[in-house]
Amino acid sequence: VFNFSAGPAALPESVLRQAADEMLEWNGAGCGVMEMSHRGAAFTSIVEAAEQDLRDLLAVPKDYRVLFLQGGATQQFAQIPMNLLDGGKASYVVTGAWSRKAVKEAERMASAIGGRIELAVSTEAHGFRRFAAADEISLRGDEAYLHVCTNETIHGIECFDFPALAAHGVPVVADMSSHILSRPFDLRDFGLIYAGAQKNIGPSGLTVVIVRESLLGRAWAGIPQMLDYKVMADNGSMLNTPPTYGIYIAGLVFRWLKEQGGLAAMEARNKAKASALYDFIDGNDFYRNEIDPASRSRMNVPFRLREDSLDKAFLADAEAAGLAQLKGHKSVGGMRASIYNAMPLEGVQALMQYMDDFARRHG
Ligand code: PLP
Repeated sequence: VFNFSAGPAALPESVLRQAADEMLEWNGAGCGVMEMSHRGAAFTSIVEAAEQDLRDLLAVPKDYRVLFLQGGATQQFAQIPMNLLDGGKASYVVTGAWSRKAVKEAERMASAIGGRIELAVSTEAHGFRRFAAADEISLRGDEAYLHVCTNETIHGIECFDFPALAAHGVPVVADMSSHILSRPFDLRDFGLIYAGAQKNIGPSGLTVVIVRESLLGRAWAGIPQMLDYKVMADNGSMLNTPPTYGIYIAGLVFRWLKEQGGLAAMEARNKAKASALYDFIDGNDFYRNEIDPASRSRMNVPFRLREDSLDKAFLADAEAAGLAQLKGHKSVGGMRASIYNAMPLEGVQALMQYMDDFARRHG
């Protein structure tokens, strides 16, 4: 079965096999990873290797801290203003459902803790069909940060020009939940990036934050300790018991990514998968994807059939053909194929073959 779930999403099979092999006992430790102290030598070696591998993959500069947190990306929507707003103002780019949620939560926080949230630009009036153009974002330069979602999982919109965001000269904060680790990029274009783990990193329950050190230490005075990036950084993400099993699986995924040749190799594979699928959709009048080609996500490919009334049959036959979880998000309807790092090209080929057959039968 090829699993096209948007998240929690498919993980590399070899990672799951290794985890299964190590379930009862990890590396002679006398117990499994779920059962060991987070402060013991065994788990310390797991978390240190995971962080180092992630640093290697993303070429994380020395002055950036890697945090392994909980609460999902959604908690970051509140945690970011709590940590960075500092009574000032921040600007938000809204290009889909997730950045719209982020700005709403930031507004709630700002009204509680002080500070102001501004809308840099929203593409909602145009139906969320592209990322914001560089000249649509105009900042004054005194903003605490500029928030973007660089891959909108529901609408299938991706940002490919990070330097243009950085060029505004204020720290860029990015929700990368659904495309982190899918290609190399320069972290120096960002003040902070964050991602819920359950797409390209590992199991849900773990949230990765990478933040420039100079942004630490300006949190709202009333912030709970657990939500303060500086407190978490000072405590090696272990102010309390961290999501140990999630960190372990993430570490196996990072190791797998290195074995695959790192992020440049993943980018080549992801480009090949996405362009094959978009070319197929564009070349077949039974299917359509309405996102501006320059903003089309390589990770989440939404598409519609010629008639929505065929959706049910499409999904049922797909399941029967071993192609799972292709239903689009309920807020937009249609279909969505999420083709994260762990989806092999063969999965995309099987999907295109099935789509072709279905179109012939119903076209
Ligand atoms: N941001 C993006 C881009 C997402 O795709 C998701 C979840 O799918 C979220 C935020 C919310 O993540 P979580 O469920 O980890 O809070």
